[in-house]
Amino acid sequence: MSAFAPYPWQRHLWQGLMARVAQQRLPHAILLTGSAGIGKRHLASCLTHSLLCAARREDGTACGHCRGCLLLAAGSHPDYLRLAPEEEGKGIGIDKVRSLAQFQSLKSQYSQGQVVVIQPADALNSSAANALLKTLEEPSGETTLLLTTDRPMSLLATIRSRCQRITLSPAVGIEAEEWLKIRLQHTELYDDSLLKMSGGAPLRALHWAEHGELEWRAQRCDELQALERDEQSAVALAQSWFEMGSERILPWFFGMVLDLLRLKQVPQATPLTNPRLQRQLHHLADRVDLMFLQRLAERMQGWMYAMRGQINQQLLLEELLLAWKQRRIGG
Ligand SMILES: [Zn+2]
Repeated sequence: MSAFAPYPWQRHLWQGLMARVAQQRLPHAILLTGSAGIGKRHLASCLTHSLLCAARREDGTACGHCRGCLLLAAGSHPDYLRLAPEEEGKGIGIDKVRSLAQFQSLKSQYSQGQVVVIQPADALNSSAANALLKTLEEPSGETTLLLTTDRPMSLLATIRSRCQRITLSPAVGIEAEEWLKIRLQHTELYDDSLLKMSGGAPLRALHWAEHGELEWRAQRCDELQALERDEQSAVALAQSWFEMGSERILPWFFGMVLDLLRLKQVPQATPLTNPRLQRQLHHLADRVDLMFLQRLAERMQGWMYAMRGQINQQLLLEELLLAWKQRRIGG
């Protein structure tokens, strides 16, 4: 398969995009959304290559060897601009958006039009987002803007409304499963629960497989049991979890709480976050009160939101573990 081909679970979407390209009806600004690990970046890259390729294949994918393709591969295509944070997790500032205006004023050099990719679009800071609005309000017929994000609600509503939104739905079908199997075929890492656990985000499932996520989760559950048996203190466990990174711990814990809530209501359900720990989680669900779980889930949502700001994460984890151990939420 060509490097410029979309992932198998994106084929249908791709055909729709290519039909619009053929009819010259591709929107001038596209917002690609869908959960993390579903392949938005890759799809944006395939589309960029296709738009700037002078000799597209029949399926619309880029040829890989025309001048446009070679320049893109070399990172020096004059009609391509990518706006991204300098470092992962950082913002995209107004200077970058200003460079976009300058870029557009140069006009397309190779008569295939210009392509601007902004990823992730939720990294635009507020002045950059406002500056971008101007570009979106006065579209140049030559430029296609591709914005990607897994948090569309954190964009300005005015940006969202000026883009045509294309949402990648969860990839839970056989194509995604087969893709994952092939990627892991020479390893022992494939597990049929990974894709479901990832909520249909195959790249995340792959990352999890390669980084031992199933074992990692099982270890955290063992630690919770050790806490309940008084073999481990909440303070010591919070310290160790803090060192692992609360941005990894909290979403997992939250998912487990949601699983337990589901098991309380539908006892025969399969836990989604820890399918391998079905027996332990069923056992645990019997020992936790429904009201406590509901309150904890609510509180945890607030914590996960607070985590993005300045907050003492180690104390927060201590509070969580103490609440868990005492089955009681303070404050
Ligand atoms: Zn080409």
